[in-house]
Amino acid sequence: MTTISTIENERASGQPLVLRTEPDRNCPLCPRLAGFREAARAREPEWFNSPVPSFGDPDGRLLIVGLAPGLQGANRTGRPFTGDFAGDLLYATLLEYGFAKGVYKARPDDGLTLVDCRIGNAVRCVPPQNKPLPAEINICRQFLSATIETMPRLRAIVMLGRVAHESTLKALRLRSAAAPFAHGAIHQAGTLRLYDSYHCSRYNTNTRVLTPEMFRNVFAKVRADLG
Ligand code: SF4
Repeated sequence: MTTISTIENERASGQPLVLRTEPDRNCPLCPRLAGFREAARAREPEWFNSPVPSFGDPDGRLLIVGLAPGLQGANRTGRPFTGDFAGDLLYATLLEYGFAKGVYKARPDDGLTLVDCRIGNAVRCVPPQNKPLPAEINICRQFLSATIETMPRLRAIVMLGRVAHESTLKALRLRSAAAPFAHGAIHQAGTLRLYDSYHCSRYNTNTRVLTPEMFRNVFAKVRADLG
């Protein structure tokens, strides 16, 4: 069952503002993705097949933003980046730089925990061919925005790929022209430091667009900056 997390803030007017960080299990806002989700539930009833919640510490200083759940990765297991190739590289790197502890076994019950770190996605539901539509990215941003706004100690965001980069900038109400995407680029936004990386997908690593060393260098920089 998907957990629905909310947090109440006070608006200047004194009216409570409810920020919803996790969508409903049957979120209907993207009809195409809801249909894809339903088809997956019928085909693979043992899989998670729901919007994948963020994983990790809401009080963490680091947030990692991915694209969307992979069909046989997070969509199957219910934990971001868990169960597919992208998770192998991401979690190995987080363990190396002290942002995770335990042993990653590609299962949500492997006991792995994140340290000072949280992982989420720009789009919470699995999209066909890993390609969400612009309207789907836009409408799901409300959950990314709420996630960012409810991390009081947040200092660093690693954005995996161009879609995560663009959606995170919009969530922060920043102009993308002021911070163009490039692997290894770092952007400062007030107290937040934003780090760009190519997505750690199997395609990117197989084609050597992203090597493990390039990926490690991003997290080495984050570790050095956060101390
Ligand atoms: S992608 Fe996001 S907004 Fe769209 S249906 Fe899923 S949870 Fe809802």
